[in-house]
Amino acid sequence: MDHIGRIFRPPSEAQSLLLQVTVGCSHNRCTYCAMYDDPAQSRFRAKPWPAVAADIAEAGRLAAGGLPIRRVFLTDGDALILPTAQLERILAALHEALPQLRRVGIYGDARSILRKSPADLARLRDLGLGIVYHGAESGDDEVLRRVNKGSTAAEAVAAAGRLREAGLRHSVMVMLGLGGTERSAAHAAATAELLTAMDPPFVGALTTTLVPGTPLHATAAAGGFDLPDPWGMLAELRTIVAGAGLTRCRFHSNHASNYVPLSLNLPADRERGLALLDAVLARRRQDDLKPEFLRGL
Ligand code: SF4
Repeated sequence: MDHIGRIFRPPSEAQSLLLQVTVGCSHNRCTYCAMYDDPAQSRFRAKPWPAVAADIAEAGRLAAGGLPIRRVFLTDGDALILPTAQLERILAALHEALPQLRRVGIYGDARSILRKSPADLARLRDLGLGIVYHGAESGDDEVLRRVNKGSTAAEAVAAAGRLREAGLRHSVMVMLGLGGTERSAAHAAATAELLTAMDPPFVGALTTTLVPGTPLHATAAAGGFDLPDPWGMLAELRTIVAGAGLTRCRFHSNHASNYVPLSLNLPADRERGLALLDAVLARRRQDDLKPEFLRGL
């Protein structure tokens, strides 16, 4: 596979073939993000079709040799920003090369989802696109503005509706601690409201980490941003689990960044999750938390 720079994927795509169809992120301005700071990825671009086609052909040879490739994840950052025709070409070629292919996943943000019409998204679904992973991050527009997310909570809700209308599954990521200590309570409450309005089938809660080299790290070093401590992060997680009116959702906080891994079916497991979080918050014992060296990011 012709992979340029560092390749990221959601935890649930661990078994997927990673096909790079764009390089970098078309936004690349979120203040906390260092995903595409590799010089090879700093300029966003679509990969030329011959390079993508060569990778698909290689995957086809692996499949023909007996490797069952059932899932493919399209990278980088927000590959859904590619024109619909280009994505159709990629999906059609994948299905021709990989007879056992069951699902294709992709990263998309509110802007890239809303640039697609419901008909565009339905065509992509018909060609095998199965799930869109969307970093909504917060329901608090002030937090979204401060971190330069480039989209609002209302746009995230509209994006969720657009995907639902097209019959595409939606996995939403939110970030604990993104409002700092100053907006911690507002961020958590608004994020629970956001998830209620979006009502996706999958949610992943990640923990904000200050990555050297990012604007957020520099702001924190200058005293302008104060990351909540682990107990503050878990209090936010509790607010979200308690308040998000999800109707049928697999809710995870099992990303490497998190202090306490949770895996809940909401709403059924809400009380179990809250009891666990309440116990950890009441004990405030360091050995209840994932050690920092295991949160290696
Ligand atoms: S949209 Fe995602 S990949 Fe792009 S800069 Fe923001 S967090 Fe990073």
